[in-house]
Amino acid sequence: MTHGLRDRGSSLSDVIGSLDTIGIVFNLNGSTTAATDELRKKGLKAYFALKSIINLGELSTRSVFKLFDALILPVVSYGCQTWLQETNFVKAVISEVDGKRILQKLAADPLEKLHLRFLKWTLQVHKKCANLTCYGDTGKSPLVIQLAKQAISYFNRLRDLDKTRSKSFVRHAFAEQRINKLTWYQNTIKLLEIAGHHHQTDSACPTRIKLKLQEHFNQLWEVERHKSSKLSYYNQVKRTPHIHYEDFLDLVCTEDRKCLMRLRSSSHRLNCETGRYVTDKELATSNARKSWYKRCEFCVSDDTKWLTHLPFCNIIEEDEHHILISCPKFHQLRTELHEEAKSLLLRNEDHHYLYNQQHIYRFGGYVRKIFNQRFPKTKKKKDTKRSQPKVKRQETV
Ligand SMILES: [Zn+2]
Repeated sequence: MTHGLRDRGSSLSDVIGSLDTIGIVFNLNGSTTAATDELRKKGLKAYFALKSIINLGELSTRSVFKLFDALILPVVSYGCQTWLQETNFVKAVISEVDGKRILQKLAADPLEKLHLRFLKWTLQVHKKCANLTCYGDTGKSPLVIQLAKQAISYFNRLRDLDKTRSKSFVRHAFAEQRINKLTWYQNTIKLLEIAGHHHQTDSACPTRIKLKLQEHFNQLWEVERHKSSKLSYYNQVKRTPHIHYEDFLDLVCTEDRKCLMRLRSSSHRLNCETGRYVTDKELATSNARKSWYKRCEFCVSDDTKWLTHLPFCNIIEEDEHHILISCPKFHQLRTELHEEAKSLLLRNEDHHYLYNQQHIYRFGGYVRKIFNQRFPKTKKKKDTKRSQPKVKRQETV
């Protein structure tokens, strides 16, 4: 049985207005992948329609999230009671695969792809920015977790109908799922078992399952972020052991917000990051160690390249700490910083400066100026030789 989604143009009012007529694409083999992929396309269409009406860049981060929840989420969550149990994330959780695989499966879900793209567009980071930092700093859970309550409530209603021997069509469809042990029914039961509620149908059960999934995700997030070498700076500055909306996202200046997010998530072009992706082939041809590509070009002279092969030679890396606290290139910007803010920065006590309500806007401006000085906006000259080899970033979960 196939209900095609009709194309209704790109107008937001059309998309929202047609919610009650949107269908779900069912494959004859029972797969719901086509349905979620269609919903993802509808969600994208709704997002761009919204963007054509409102300049999202001028809104606060909280307002953009509210608009997503009010206007996009209802579009993409349509019929979640039928497809949520077959998403990659739920399948991975009930199969009890290892944490990294669960996160990879989650990122491959069509609707979570849309969700992550939305978060990255809002945070103004590139698409290769680590997904864990996007969840971590916005406090946003994966869509599947947000929708779990709806799906389990629906399952419980059907189970109650089944118990009362209702003559409705939907009860017979549910009984067929149960008797033939079909995927939708089996996956829901496994989800209930994980949360320890497979015999209960009380009204609080859906909430508890949502919380259980959220707790599971938080644990995964906490473990996996510490395993990631790319997130070493993020792990130092992130204080809470769970996902949490960070105050710096409330900064009025969008450019400051963007720079702080890029700094925290290491989604920038400092050499500590670009040097990470230098290949063995490039290393062999350049006759240098990998650490050479991570050096601060201002502090380390090109003449010392041969020294990198010596065992005692420590190259000064151009990383987040270096540019913020010690690089002489930005000394002038440091002296211009407010006295109290500068004192906080130089004391560097548990990165308190990134959380200080009173001074966070000063640090936002400070980081923006550093990035502007480090990466001045100039027209690229085609024949200019690159000081660093062109490298390809690897996607991080
Ligand atoms: Zn330096």
